[in-house]
Amino acid sequence: MKQAGLARTMNNLYFACIDCKVYVDAGYRWALWSLEEPGIVKRGIPISVDSVFAASEYWTPWNTGSAEWLQSEVLPSVRRFLEEHRKHRLVFGNTADFLSQDGDGILDWMQVGFSPALLPRYFVERLGFKTWDQVCNFVARQASLPWWWMLDWDDLHNKFRQKFQDLVESRNPCQRSGAGACKYGGH
Ligand SMILES: [Zn+2]
Repeated sequence: MKQAGLARTMNNLYFACIDCKVYVDAGYRWALWSLEEPGIVKRGIPISVDSVFAASEYWTPWNTGSAEWLQSEVLPSVRRFLEEHRKHRLVFGNTADFLSQDGDGILDWMQVGFSPALLPRYFVERLGFKTWDQVCNFVARQASLPWWWMLDWDDLHNKFRQKFQDLVESRNPCQRSGAGACKYGGH
C-alpha cells in the first residue's frame, strides 16, 4: 500500500536528474514512441543528452492530437531541463525507475515543467512559500488535491509538512516556527 499514491504517476515518463533530484515530464506516449522504441533512451539507464537533442522526431511532433500540448507545454520545459542538467547524471523512465525503493524517496525530489507534482521542494524552491498556510491556500485552489494530502496511512501528510518546514527553515534560519527570538545573531 505504501506505493499506492505513487502508482498513479507510474505510467508517466520523465527525465530525472539523479544529482539534483529533479524530474520533468517527457511527454508520455510521444516519448515512448519517438525516444524509447527507437532505443534512443532506455528506462533507468543514464541518457546521452546529445542523442536526445539529435532525435528530431521527438522535437517535431506531428500527426498526433497531442502535438500542440507537446509543442507549447512539454518540449520547451524538457529542453530547458536537459540544458540545465546536461552535465549531471540523467535517466529516463517512470518514477519507479529513479526513486529509491523506500516510500520516502519522493520527499527529496521536485518535479518541474508540465503539470508538476505538488511536492515540498516545489512549494519552497519554485513558489517561494514560507508558511504552511500558503501551501494550504494554494492546494485549496487546485482542481484536485495532491495524492499525499488526505491520506493518513503512514503519517504521510505530516511527513510532507515536516519536510516543507525543514526546507523553509534551512533557507531562513531566523524564521523557525514558534521561536520568537533569532538564535542566529549577527545578520
Ligand atoms: Zn541536475
